Amino acid sequence: MKITAVEPIHLRVPVVDAIPDGTLDVLVVKIHTDEGLTGIGEVTSQSYVCKACFDAPRSAARRHGLTSILVGEDPRDVEGLWEKMYYETNRYGRRGAAIHAISGADIALWDLKGKIEGKPVSELLGGRVRDDVRAYASVLFADTPEETAAMAHEYVEMGLTAVKFGWGPIGPDPDVDVAHVQAAREAVGNDRDLMVDAGHAWDWETALGRTELFKPFNIAWLEEPVGQDDRKGYAELCKRSEIPIAGGEGDVTHWDFEDLIERGLDVVQPDIAFCGGITVCKRVSDMAIAAGRRAVPHCFSTGINLAASLHWISTVPNGDLVEYCLRPSPLMRKLVANLPPVVNGRVPVPTGPGLGIELDPAIEEEFTVRYE
Ligand code: MG
Repeated sequence: MKITAVEPIHLRVPVVDAIPDGTLDVLVVKIHTDEGLTGIGEVTSQSYVCKACFDAPRSAARRHGLTSILVGEDPRDVEGLWEKMYYETNRYGRRGAAIHAISGADIALWDLKGKIEGKPVSELLGGRVRDDVRAYASVLFADTPEETAAMAHEYVEMGLTAVKFGWGPIGPDPDVDVAHVQAAREAVGNDRDLMVDAGHAWDWETALGRTELFKPFNIAWLEEPVGQDDRKGYAELCKRSEIPIAGGEGDVTHWDFEDLIERGLDVVQPDIAFCGGITVCKRVSDMAIAAGRRAVPHCFSTGINLAASLHWISTVPNGDLVEYCLRPSPLMRKLVANLPPVVNGRVPVPTGPGLGIELDPAIEEEFTVRYE
């Protein structure tokens, strides 16, 4: 069996605001074979740039476009193809857009392998240890503590047992931060998990002060309290904080996550459509378990990302949690026709071959960007 074509398809809603929302503009990747099967993947990054990583022609050694690397190859050797894509792009790749693009190809290759073998991706990864995964809602803090509380009530009513608030007004003023976290805790009650995403707000000393102030509210983790490149800050904070520290949504490859784990991060959060794909996530969760840490998928784009995250994390013994995006974008709500729903606070892992999802062709058609 051979790969005959790779299609990077840019989907975008008509109005894309400059907010931290991965559901507005995505790159879907389809990999076709000579036996009529197609694998589906997704890239959550700068779609135009990542599309160019596929379309670029062959050039001098280790600077080829991804499509030219994949066409003609046997799709069944997924991890071998990951190594080939990584190495043959490494003059312009290794980190950044090229590795984001590789994520989409890798997800599509795992989907394809599952379809070839008639098995769900979770089975290819060693077998699921749970058939559904606990969901947490992820949402931005509102402008006032009262509005934050109102949103929290909404998610509790949906049956969710864990909620994460982040960004927005958090950062400059400790009193404001405490007021918001307290309002969120009171609204979700004491028998649900509450997480806080600080959105790179502080240096490590300030972050440590906030962990002291947040202690009465029993938060399950404090996410990205310092800048993504402040590795020393993470190490200092993780040594001292009594609240678990989370991060990694901006990191790629298992080498980046090896570093975060060595720095002491309690919860690592790879995004499967960004970090290098299912192949990287599997390596990350293996390392996390060996170090006594948790991996929790960062997942804030389409149902393709959600399905891939569910297959992966359903195989991880200490991995019973997935981020569930509740944004209204049709690329999240409708692109995957059989989008895995939240049922009693949990999300069923799809059971069909590969990722077990189907795209809605009308949604795909409506939002495809056509270049001149
Ligand atoms: Mg975050």
